[in-house]
Amino acid sequence: MNIATKNLPIAEEAAAILERLGVERAAYTGGDLKAFSPITGEQTASLKTVTASDAAAMINRADNAFRAWRLVPAPKRGELVRLFGEELRSAKSDLGHLVSIEAGKSPSEGLGEVQEMIDICDFAVGLSRQLYGLTIATERPGHRMMETWHPLGVIGIISAFNFPVAVWAWNTALALVCGNSVVWKPSEKTPLTALAAQGILERALKRFGEGPEGLAHVLIGDRAIGEVLVDHDKVRLVSATGSTRMGREVGPRLAKRFARAILELGGNNGGIVCPSADLDMALRAVAFGAMGTAGQRCTSLRRLFVHDSVYDKLVPRLKKAYASVSVGNPLDGGALVGPLIDRLAFDNMQKALVEAKMRGGTVHGGERVETGHADAYYVKPALVEMPAQDGPVLEETFAPILYVLKYNDFEAVLADHNAVGAGLSSSIFTLDMREAERFLAVDGSDCGIANVNIGTSGAEIGGAFGGEKETGGGRESGSDAWKAYMRRATNTVNYSKALPLAQGVSFDI
Ligand code: NAD
Repeated sequence: MNIATKNLPIAEEAAAILERLGVERAAYTGGDLKAFSPITGEQTASLKTVTASDAAAMINRADNAFRAWRLVPAPKRGELVRLFGEELRSAKSDLGHLVSIEAGKSPSEGLGEVQEMIDICDFAVGLSRQLYGLTIATERPGHRMMETWHPLGVIGIISAFNFPVAVWAWNTALALVCGNSVVWKPSEKTPLTALAAQGILERALKRFGEGPEGLAHVLIGDRAIGEVLVDHDKVRLVSATGSTRMGREVGPRLAKRFARAILELGGNNGGIVCPSADLDMALRAVAFGAMGTAGQRCTSLRRLFVHDSVYDKLVPRLKKAYASVSVGNPLDGGALVGPLIDRLAFDNMQKALVEAKMRGGTVHGGERVETGHADAYYVKPALVEMPAQDGPVLEETFAPILYVLKYNDFEAVLADHNAVGAGLSSSIFTLDMREAERFLAVDGSDCGIANVNIGTSGAEIGGAFGGEKETGGGRESGSDAWKAYMRRATNTVNYSKALPLAQGVSFDI
């Protein structure tokens, strides 16, 4: 936490951070988009939003910038991202604190989000010297066949409130080293962190000095501005993170104009606790996965299947952890569970709990915790023992609800685990090698992330991140996710004096 601003009212704290990061006051005063902190429910700022024509003009400028940037050698582009990483390091405590103010995260999670941004910069700098294609054996003598990766164009980024800046950085760091420009539509619930992050990138651009004008933009506004980005023909890829509802709208619009999509949508993540599990480890992993970030991570644990033989050993301990976890202002006293983002999130949580009860669920927790702030929504995390997986258990409710179910047959629990729409993250707790390997095998978990003896949340940037089915199928961050931000050309060169045709075809004229 930044000592200099610690005791100020929350709006002033936010303004002081923005000022230190070089964001002009005019950008967040006197505008039409109100920003709030879920910590107290207070308004923090009112931001100027962009119009559809402003957004189109920015996209056109980004397209011009792309045409120059793609000619800059990739390792040189990596130098810009290296500087961005340096700027993030020096702004880490301020930006992390702003993430806490705007998204309600604990200080360590706010800082962790900025650390993820730094990590992806480091990854992308190395990548800037490794954007290589294959040389492939050709059937024709005197020929060489290879693939070349070229920059794609303007990359649109749409992000959700719960990772207000890390997801943008995952996309931006890769997009920039790959030779693209970026236009970002952040969540309307977390616009101040967006201004701050954009300001940090602009500092890096200034130090770099040689980047074309208009390489990175931020569009402050609501979903209508997101739609401009989705529909603009110069935006070649949209990486959209948010609810499955949003993906259902965005995906077909992109497909209609043959633009690429990376869809990172909702999760309904499951964990299985087997008879041989290390229960102390499972307890800690489940507690963090289900209650951490107040259940507002796309990878939060939402369904827990516990084997009959260990149910009575694990679940009472879990209930105890639920009953005693600290809920409250995460910046003031170090509560582990902070606020829900807003009233809508609270209402959705209560609705799901009522439905769960109607279906025979036993609810522990879930009630509102009063903090003296009428517009801040703190809740006791809810653990719900369910007789069967149906109703609200099948859907993602973006709040701290953990549905706990008993199982006694491994094949049946694998089938139940996979019997939901989403396919993001999953985990199994077992010391039995056969169960662990089976969970990771072709007929095991159907998710994009499948873990053994680790919870569902808290991914590292080195792996590709994303999920299957209603999670959208997109991958971003590490591994070879960079390929989505480039176009592949297959090149065949004939250095012989003949013109043999492939597949033995003859065409003699
Ligand atoms: P949301 O879908 O309400 O909004 C996400 C973003 O999409 C916002 O910027 C919003 O303005 C924009 N948007 C909404 N409709 C749009 C449209 N029709 N066209 C263009 N833009 C549109 O999500 P949220 O409440 O901010 O975030 C929570 C959700 O995000 C949860 O479902 C969570 O699981 C998901 N999420 C997924 C991942 C992942 O990597 N899979 C990561 C974080 C969050």
